[in-house]
Amino acid sequence: LFISYEGIDGAGKSTHLEATEARLRAAGAIVCRSREPGGTPLAETLREMVLNQPMAPLTEALLVFAARHEHWLQVIQPALAAGQVVLCDRFADASFAYQGGGRGVAWEQLQALEQWTVAGRAPDLTLWFDLDPAEAARRRAAARSADRFEAEDLAFFGRVRAAYARRFEEQPQRFERIDAGQSLDGVAAQLAAALQRRGW
Ligand code: C5P
Repeated sequence: LFISYEGIDGAGKSTHLEATEARLRAAGAIVCRSREPGGTPLAETLREMVLNQPMAPLTEALLVFAARHEHWLQVIQPALAAGQVVLCDRFADASFAYQGGGRGVAWEQLQALEQWTVAGRAPDLTLWFDLDPAEAARRRAAARSADRFEAEDLAFFGRVRAAYARRFEEQPQRFERIDAGQSLDGVAAQLAAALQRRGW
């Protein structure tokens, strides 16, 4: 079982990922938790480069998908083969959202990279934490330090959100949209309901 967590910065996906992990472990599942960009030593090095150095949009896409290929081969695929539950903080949808919607890399190029790097394999379930970009910006301002993405403006995050919505519309069977504008408890309840609907 492969579940990804997606959403714009500040939507709260990482907090809820930890809660799901605790719940699944308590229920006896063997959980492999990871994140993107990153998840292997090389992929984490690529993450540092992508987060901190300005670069052309296509370069960014190539580096993120290179990191994803390593992550896929070394972590996700073996974990799935061993019957583990994989919880991943972002996966390929993030590239359609950020490098596609945010930076303007063509959808078809991203689809080609997705085929090359992970053979087009998508998560079984993608939890999309959908939040208004202005609210997300308020939450980010109240929280942690910023990388170069978090410093982007509302227009950028509006495009990222719209690209998530496009993925959601293209592959609705795999997505659950979570209204991340609600309270922590409200979001947790939606998450539990979404997992239950799918029998997990
Ligand atoms: O999810 P997390 O906050 O760890 O992501 C780190 C940063 O990388 C975020 O600011 C996110 O916007 C950015 N990112 C990106 N392209 C991706 C995945 C993440 O620009 N494909």
